[in-house]
Amino acid sequence: IKEQKALFIIFGGTGDLAQRKLYPSIFELYKKGYLKRNFAIIGTARRPWTNDYYREIVKDSIDGMYDSEQTAIAFSNHFYYQSHNVTDTSHYVTLRQLAEKLDGKYEIGGNRLFYLAMSPRFFGTICEHLKSQELKTTTGYNRVIVEKPFGRDFASATILNNEISQSFPEDDVFRIDHYLGKEMVQNIAAIRFGNSIFNAMWNNRYISNIQVTLSEALGVEERAGYYETAGALRDMIQNHMLQIVALLTMSAPVSFTDADIRNAKINALKCLKVYTKDEVKENFVRGQYDSGRNLPAYRQEDQTAPDSMTETFVAGKLLINTMDMAGVPIYVRTGKRLATKATRIDVVFKQVPNNVFADNDLRHDVLTITVDPEPSLRLQLNSKTIGQGYDFDTHRLNLDYKLSEEQKKSVPEAYEKLILDALKGKASNFTHWKELQYSWKFVDAIRQAWDDNVDQVVFPNYPCGEMGPDTSEKLLAKDGNHWEFTI
Ligand code: NAD
Repeated sequence: IKEQKALFIIFGGTGDLAQRKLYPSIFELYKKGYLKRNFAIIGTARRPWTNDYYREIVKDSIDGMYDSEQTAIAFSNHFYYQSHNVTDTSHYVTLRQLAEKLDGKYEIGGNRLFYLAMSPRFFGTICEHLKSQELKTTTGYNRVIVEKPFGRDFASATILNNEISQSFPEDDVFRIDHYLGKEMVQNIAAIRFGNSIFNAMWNNRYISNIQVTLSEALGVEERAGYYETAGALRDMIQNHMLQIVALLTMSAPVSFTDADIRNAKINALKCLKVYTKDEVKENFVRGQYDSGRNLPAYRQEDQTAPDSMTETFVAGKLLINTMDMAGVPIYVRTGKRLATKATRIDVVFKQVPNNVFADNDLRHDVLTITVDPEPSLRLQLNSKTIGQGYDFDTHRLNLDYKLSEEQKKSVPEAYEKLILDALKGKASNFTHWKELQYSWKFVDAIRQAWDDNVDQVVFPNYPCGEMGPDTSEKLLAKDGNHWEFTI
């Protein structure tokens, strides 16, 4: 374990994300020895907190994670609070002075990690000030971690990116997509490129279709204000889903380095077929949850319009037109208030070209990668039924891999993994601007068609606790397929 030297400057240090995700993740890195002595964290936000108060908040956020009070105190003593309004230039001067002081005190050597954990509308002004007020050092690295959402369409993402790139070159911009920090999402590459059986078969000659489900049991909760302006397409498909699809469909990277992996992903997304309006109608369906199981409809939630047309469910068929993947339907679906919380990938292989077992139905082989809630792998195969008294019968055999209790404990939280990656300058688990461009162009075409109401959808159209509207089943049935993951 190599100790990392860094000064973190967190914008939005009093926020929900900072307290729920960032401080616990940074603490884990501290416990494991990635952060030891040469690090400090400046939290900034508008509220006038003292260092002592801030440290108490940090301690609260790691409650239950430490063995001794001493460890918690030693850790929280690395935290400093700076009251800061992001639009006030003079505040950056104070911030620079504090940063320089802490850089000296903790012998950090000029490495800076700026974490933008607040509303993206402030990202531009923060980045501009970081440059103009010389918060970037010349002695170490200067990396910026950017939270989602990265724009709401191609045009606004471009503006945002232009603002950030005035101050930070692409190599220093780490756009977070926390799904890329999940063990089983990272495992896709190992499964595909580490095994002859899958490497040889991962193409349109052997794969019938690929399915990705990202289902949530929760409703919109207290995020309705934001969600009303976003919807499931922007909130989940544009980022997490398309990132997973890129990993599932990219060609083998030349080597497992940032540049090569990113190129492979960029190329996959470049080959994502952008739909015309008619094709959107054919290939994408949307839904919004109605009441059910004693839960309110989306339109009855706080801060939603009574006639809201925001989609809380999306299912679609994607096509990646590369030599290997062209013609393989990639079905995706995501939604709120579905039957369960899960992230799951099913790769359905084609049947053997000739069934020699005459009366025995052979089924499709299916590789299932479960990302959430518990990482696991399953391979479904056809096998001979064991025992006397049968003719030659075949049946379904499941090869299962589940994590041991020990392994489960060692699975890092996605944010922990990604923060460590950023400290090491490892960029492959972050989204490159070119990937975002292709993703937004794809999503914009769907959004546009829906805004023109090509599908003439009527909301609400699925009750809480189901796996979405019946149009989602029909989408696959049209191709003679069905969702492998049913509840
Ligand atoms: P939040 O509202 O809880 O926190 C926002 C922070 O920004 C607060 O610390 C607030 O004081 C600060 N702030 C607001 N205006 C300011 C100003 N003018 N000057 C200085 N500080 C100001 O938000 P959050 O939930 O922590 O989310 C932060 C970012 O992370 C957003 O981009 C969000 O989309 C993203 N995100 C959050 C979550 C999550 O689980 N909370 C998950 C994914 C992405």
